[in-house]
Amino acid sequence: MRPVADGTTPAITVRTLAPAETVRLGERLGHALRAGDVVLLRGDLGAGKTHFARGIAAGLGIAGPVPSPTFTLANEYHGTNAAGEAVPLAHLDLYRLMDGGGGESGGDLDSVGLPDYFGGEWAAVVEWPEGAMLAGFVPPSYLDVALADAGETERQLTFTAHGVAVRLLDALTGEVGEV
Ligand code: ADP
Ligand code: MG
Repeated sequence: MRPVADGTTPAITVRTLAPAETVRLGERLGHALRAGDVVLLRGDLGAGKTHFARGIAAGLGIAGPVPSPTFTLANEYHGTNAAGEAVPLAHLDLYRLMDGGGGESGGDLDSVGLPDYFGGEWAAVVEWPEGAMLAGFVPPSYLDVALADAGETERQLTFTAHGVAVRLLDALTGEVGEV
């Protein structure tokens, strides 16, 4: 899949039928991730953001638990992608820093270190990125993943590539049929 000439942002939509399928889809993305990639996970509570992030971590060969960073804000891992490249992974959950997020009155986005995580040395996977985007923490390119409840065990994931993140869309499209 390639960006089209009129500038329309390329996107694909995938439906998963079970939590394990969402994890496997994340795993395929994880295989292709590199330092400098940013993946934004948007969706309501229970939409599957953390499951997808766990898949990404698994795809980077990260063994062991990948707990939700709801309280820590950011968890850091040492991953390796399918090409054998080292990929420092940051898994963030900014829910507590959103207005109305039950956090410390909007919280302190400046102290999270987003410019570092978005600066090229990390692969960053961010749950609840909306507040950060509104506050101007916009990565130069990123893969936007919108997750939605589509039934008791079904979820719909829409991937939209911004900038060079289109490469990641390519990684997903080749294998979607196998999910
Ligand atoms: P979030 O991080 O978006 O709040 P989680 O990944 O923590 O979401 O939780 C998703 C919930 O939805 C889990 O309870 C999971 O079992 C359930 N679920 C049901 N179907 C799916 C699916 N197809 N993909 C992912 N999660 C699913
Ligand atoms: Mg979560």
